[in-house]
Amino acid sequence: MNNKIPPEVRAVAETLEKAGYEAYLVGGCVRDLIIGREPKDWDLTTNASPEQIQALFPHTYYENMYGTVGVVNDEATDERLKNIEVTPYRLESGYSDHRRPDKVEFGQSLEDDLKRRDFTINALAMDSKGQIIDLYNGQADVNTKVIRTVGQAGERFSEDALRMLRAVRFASELGFSTSSETMQGIMLHVKLLGDISSERIRDEFERIIMSREPMVGMVMCEKLGILPYISPVLIKTIGVEQNKQAHKYGVWEHLLRSLQHAADRGWGLDIRLAALFHDISKPETKHQVGNQTTFYGHEVVGARVTRETLTNLRFPVKLIEKVTKLVRWHMFFSDTEQVTLSAVRRMIANVGRENIWDLMNVRSCDRIGTGRPKESPYRLRKYHAMIEEAMHDPISVGMLKIDGKGIMDVTHETPGPKIGFALHALLEEVIEDPNKNTKEYLESRAGELMKLDVGELQKLGEKGKSVKDREEEKLLEKIKKSHGV
Ligand code: ATP
Ligand code: MG
Repeated sequence: MNNKIPPEVRAVAETLEKAGYEAYLVGGCVRDLIIGREPKDWDLTTNASPEQIQALFPHTYYENMYGTVGVVNDEATDERLKNIEVTPYRLESGYSDHRRPDKVEFGQSLEDDLKRRDFTINALAMDSKGQIIDLYNGQADVNTKVIRTVGQAGERFSEDALRMLRAVRFASELGFSTSSETMQGIMLHVKLLGDISSERIRDEFERIIMSREPMVGMVMCEKLGILPYISPVLIKTIGVEQNKQAHKYGVWEHLLRSLQHAADRGWGLDIRLAALFHDISKPETKHQVGNQTTFYGHEVVGARVTRETLTNLRFPVKLIEKVTKLVRWHMFFSDTEQVTLSAVRRMIANVGRENIWDLMNVRSCDRIGTGRPKESPYRLRKYHAMIEEAMHDPISVGMLKIDGKGIMDVTHETPGPKIGFALHALLEEVIEDPNKNTKEYLESRAGELMKLDVGELQKLGEKGKSVKDREEEKLLEKIKKSHGV
């Protein structure tokens, strides 16, 4: 096994050993070596103090409360080998807030350091010769693919509640299952997740979503009672049925399958989140009309709920904006027999040129997630061709052959909201008919528009929001009222 340890890492361990200290690889890298997975980083632990470690290497840094010393290797080409972290054995005790130890001290032995670690598969150590130290049967658990806490599950989860979410994260990243004691420990202590910060929950949730099997991870979250701490709204989709002709699954399973499709295709976090959340508001917009179930306006409410959910989880603003847009515009008419190019242009204008292909990917997740994909690959290709064509046409104010200054020059209008409304009104016309995007036409049309009063002009500019859209906004108000929000 030691031939898989990079020479740079082995050299650090050997330098410590030659100076009379102990040194071991620990944590994720040992686990990954045994699995045959590429380790993310290489961590070493030792009985040397931070000062003793620093004395042995020419270039180090040391700037944290845990005594971790970074041994810098400037020549390394692999990013992960540029600085190798060496941490003195650590002992942790007293977890009164269920989040972090009250006291952290240097440990005396490797055993001290291993017993504070979360799972048996993460509590393996390896010396520079490749000898494995396995005090908790971690190798057996790696081989049988089991996540099991070091020591009593309930105790370990009440020390640090985040470990419950880490258990699910490792299960979905590695394709492992959890031991029954670990599972029971989670079910008994899941409420303690309420003490964990949104940022830490977000980090683990993100890793579950980005794993190869996010569907398995999310099902585990649901079964173990973790889901409410990620998104209390998502739970409401469980048990909500939809029309059987178009959908093989209820809403929750549809969302999970959409998410899994995004993972199967290797798509990014934005698309995965949009896939998971796109129908989040179907429960509250559900109406029964005869034997048909409708979810009218669910994408409008859903966009709002998605924004709230992702904001609560402290995702970056740019990502939130993008996912919200993808959810908002995921319902679009794509029947190539009937759809017009101007409708396609309007859709691109709504979601933004930069997001259009991601929206198509979300659509693909949605389609596969129904279990009854309707559109044929031929029709989809045809629709893609329509998008390509529409992308050449003007679909934003910036692409008009006139700008605000141009309007003011020809109409002698002073700066004010009317100029913006006029630009949007002109864009509406050009979306309907791109041939109108000429300087001559727009200038003369601007003159006519300026004779209208502000209100009329604004309405023209908002036509793109379409009648349907305004109806949806009204519906949204009604739904909100009926739910008392
Ligand atoms: P990855 O390869 O994804 O980084 P990892 O196992 O290295 O996985 P980290 O979060 O980097 O995971 O943590 C490194 C090691 O520190 C873990 O393997 C585990 O031994 C220990 N550890 C991390 N977080 C905790 C925790 N909350 N409680 C107990 N031990 C922990
Ligand atoms: Mg790690």
